Amino acid sequence: MDQGELMRKLSGEIMECRGCPLHVSRNHAVPGEGATPARLIFIGEAPGKREDELGRPFVGRAGSILDDLLESINIDRSEVFITSVVKCRPPGNRDPKKDEISACMPYLVRQIDLISPQIIVPMGRFATSSIFGHFDLIFESLGKARRHPVILENKKIIFPVYHPAVITHNPGKRKDLEGDFMELKKTIDSL
Ligand code: URA
Repeated sequence: MDQGELMRKLSGEIMECRGCPLHVSRNHAVPGEGATPARLIFIGEAPGKREDELGRPFVGRAGSILDDLLESINIDRSEVFITSVVKCRPPGNRDPKKDEISACMPYLVRQIDLISPQIIVPMGRFATSSIFGHFDLIFESLGKARRHPVILENKKIIFPVYHPAVITHNPGKRKDLEGDFMELKKTIDSL
């Protein structure tokens, strides 16, 4: 089986997952979608209302912001893989709990293995701290981590950015968010 087929199988597994209590309240698990393998993987926090309804990642308000950001750096959604740390919507969009994260993290790790990205892009504090934790890196704050590429032993790069939803509650951060993606583009072009 090639990586694409293995990813389809893994997505099927995620859609049936009952590994934590979130499966009770979800409409759909949201495994993520995009190219496999791909040069980049974008990782959010957890599905919201619209994602839960459709079973697709970043299709609500944060999704249209992400689409614009990708377009601004000439990337099409279909070229990259987009997912979240937690694959099922926490009720009322509350923060995911520790047991939910630990139940779900192995899926993300398997996805990263299959996608074999050159650049891992955690979006927001939650995804960045989860990814740093997985790679045994010290996470202090998103403020310190964002725009600072971390090069792993296997030469893969972690490039943290703001979460696209940051501007829905803090419109003043638009320039910072757009700047994060511009810096990401520079790193992509340097490879
Ligand atoms: N926010 C996320 O972190 N993930 C989604 O899929 C949608 C919004």
